[in-house]
Amino acid sequence: MGRRPALGRHPTFGRPTAGPAGRRPVLADLHVHVARARGRLVKIAASTRLTVAGIVDECVSRKGLDVIGLVDAHSPPVIAELEAMVDAGELEPLPGGGLVIPGPRPLTILTASEVEVDEAGLGPVHYVCYLPRLASCREFSEFLEPRVTNVSLSSQKARTTGEELALRAGKAGGFLVPAHVFTPHKGYFGQGGTDLRESFSDQALAHVPAVELGLSADTGLADLIPSLRPFTLLTSSDAHSPESIGREHTAIDIPPGAPLDFPTLARALREARVAANYGLDPRLGKYHRAFCPACGHIAAEGHLLGETCPACGGARVVGGVLDRILEIAARGGAPTGGVPAGNKPAGPTSEGPPMVRPPYVHIVPLAHVPGVGPSTLRKLYRAFGGEMRVLHDVPEVELAAVVGATLARRISAARAGTTGLDITPGAGGRYGRLTPPT
Ligand SMILES: [Zn+2]
Ligand SMILES: [Zn+2]
Repeated sequence: MGRRPALGRHPTFGRPTAGPAGRRPVLADLHVHVARARGRLVKIAASTRLTVAGIVDECVSRKGLDVIGLVDAHSPPVIAELEAMVDAGELEPLPGGGLVIPGPRPLTILTASEVEVDEAGLGPVHYVCYLPRLASCREFSEFLEPRVTNVSLSSQKARTTGEELALRAGKAGGFLVPAHVFTPHKGYFGQGGTDLRESFSDQALAHVPAVELGLSADTGLADLIPSLRPFTLLTSSDAHSPESIGREHTAIDIPPGAPLDFPTLARALREARVAANYGLDPRLGKYHRAFCPACGHIAAEGHLLGETCPACGGARVVGGVLDRILEIAARGGAPTGGVPAGNKPAGPTSEGPPMVRPPYVHIVPLAHVPGVGPSTLRKLYRAFGGEMRVLHDVPEVELAAVVGATLARRISAARAGTTGLDITPGAGGRYGRLTPPT
């Protein structure tokens, strides 16, 4: 097993300020992959440093997140790794469900499983099933085993449906979240869906409290699709390397005194208790605009609705997230309908329109701020305890004392949002790029 994280040696630092109702927002990244466990491969094409210990170390020592979702907890080596950590006392099962790395700043871990399903009429779609206990992960693994080629691997195609997965997760006390819903690469809406009710019964949707936006979309874009109104929107990283953990995250409101465990977080999602979404400017995502691989043409305006490339006539244009959302919106989306049965008994969105979404803050991860390299990052983490603290709490003047006025100003600008910045949009699998400030 890899090096264990040095727990308890990092400074403790303040949480985001509690809201007016006395609730405390916690910072969660609910989509993190494991690449290796027990010396075995779990996820192909992901950083080998993405072991459970490596993830915990990154979250506790460098990011300062409160909650993460491990989305490969159907893989027997991952389950064995988590069980070994429990046996060693490094990880504690919470009485209500969920796990915690104890320490001055505890890290709650939700176990989950990302599954690929060939959804009728759409094609391959990714869903994440969140499960409250290691025992439920083991059961889920046994369910998947005969339905996939290799149950040890991540995001395997399974012979099942979203409907069956949602009902199964619900029965285990868990829930299902459609992953990166707008990406042309295996997102429900990116694959042609316009309304989850085309694939899910109301009974199953009662166990679907939220959808995950993915890197190329934000709240403003998602709200162009009326059928998404009843769903809480999550911003998660889908990290394939330790550095990417937390690049998108969600601030979730937890009632005072509630334990930071699985049922509290599940209830918060059902009741839409999101304080804010923090994510990349959609223009920085890899699939924001339509792109022609034959000539490199990126759609600048208008959209390529499955058309040929206007520049070279090529027929294999890769869809863009923005283009897809505009397409659904132009068709009037889907009928608004009601709130799915059982969803959001008391949530702020259950009253119907006008619906108020929490703010979506376009952040730039520190490592992407021009001029911030590994040594600057180390200085910032040592001084302030972690990236979340730097992004959310530390005043510019305190940053300047550590990294100098110029970098402090850039970090300050980056966390304030990128709406006014010059960005070359991402397309066809390439990330968008930020023009360095002067
Ligand atoms: Zn996925
Ligand atoms: Zn994923």
